[in-house]
Amino acid sequence: MEIRNASEALLDRIFNITQDLYTQMSKDDSDAENDHNAIYRLLTDLGRTLVDADRASFWKWDKRSHTLWTTAAVGEGRITIPEGTGLVGKALSEKRSIVTNDPYNCPDFNSEVDKKTGYITKSILVMPISDCKGEFIGAYQAINKLNDKGFDLEEDVRRLSLAAIICGITLESDSFLDDSRHDKLTELKNRMGFYSDYSKDFEKLVNDTDNTNGVSLFICDIDHFKHINDTYGHNAGDAVLRHVADIFRKSCRICDGVYRWGGEEFIVILPDSSAEKAAEAADRLRISIMESVCHYEELDIKITMSFGVTRIDPGLSIEENIKAADEKLYTAKESGRNRVIL
Ligand code: GH3
Ligand code: MG
Ligand code: MG
Repeated sequence: MEIRNASEALLDRIFNITQDLYTQMSKDDSDAENDHNAIYRLLTDLGRTLVDADRASFWKWDKRSHTLWTTAAVGEGRITIPEGTGLVGKALSEKRSIVTNDPYNCPDFNSEVDKKTGYITKSILVMPISDCKGEFIGAYQAINKLNDKGFDLEEDVRRLSLAAIICGITLESDSFLDDSRHDKLTELKNRMGFYSDYSKDFEKLVNDTDNTNGVSLFICDIDHFKHINDTYGHNAGDAVLRHVADIFRKSCRICDGVYRWGGEEFIVILPDSSAEKAAEAADRLRISIMESVCHYEELDIKITMSFGVTRIDPGLSIEENIKAADEKLYTAKESGRNRVIL
């Protein structure tokens, strides 16, 4: 097709991106591990094209960690900033779009991202994005207008609006996916979160033959937990579960995966850890739990936990490995509880 003028050329570029977007969205992505990254990339491209900017990116508000993160702008992995900071934080808290064509003289501009990436921001447009219920969950950002005049608040927001709606739906779907991988009571990841992390992050470490320590895991279970529910009530039991989750969160390394496996059972997966190192970590946790007190209303509740540890055998499925750890946990229970079995 012959392209007659600049507007037609622009439309043609937009149609190409939206077609890619359509193809991407209708792809049968049964492993669902891309977490919408391909869609974000295409939406970035679309946003950039619509407002004639050098770059565009999305920011997602992560309500769990009280941060804002982005991946798309600079292709450098994830950049995270505290919520409420920078122009994105301002646009979200004030629920309005913001333009600055002189960011380095704008008090709300956070130059940290530029410092990290070496990119120089000269003009910036931030458009807050809401989910279908009108809650602001992220922002669309365009950087460095290609003409010299900079962004025009009204005109560029108008141009971005359809892409911003698609972006809002994608961010919302990301939030649903994230929620489905977390346990509401303890805010730890749940079993779905475990399988998602395992296939995304841990499985390749398990199969890495250069990694001599390997990857280990332990499964653990609160001792006589039913007694706590029966004696103090179900709400006290819930408080104990939150208490245990807090200790796990504080005690485990950032690289470890911590999951509520179900009921009063938890799994921790430890990369670069021999079974012995994992057993030491489990024993430190066991002692912390035993020495801690869960304060609930007027009650001071003491608990203990039992642990089963295994080094993940790459020759077995993850389910078989968990079963192996579970058998050790059973031995820990049978032989008196409040102990770690390797
Ligand atoms: P053991 O030392 O052998 O592990 O004994 P136990 O009493 O801990 O184990 P049992 O399997 O008999 O009981 C587990 C209890 O955990 C039963 C179930 O009602 C309770 N439970 C499971 N999920 C929750 C929850 O989310 N909140 C509360 N409060 N209780 C829960
Ligand atoms: Mg138990
Ligand atoms: Mg149990």
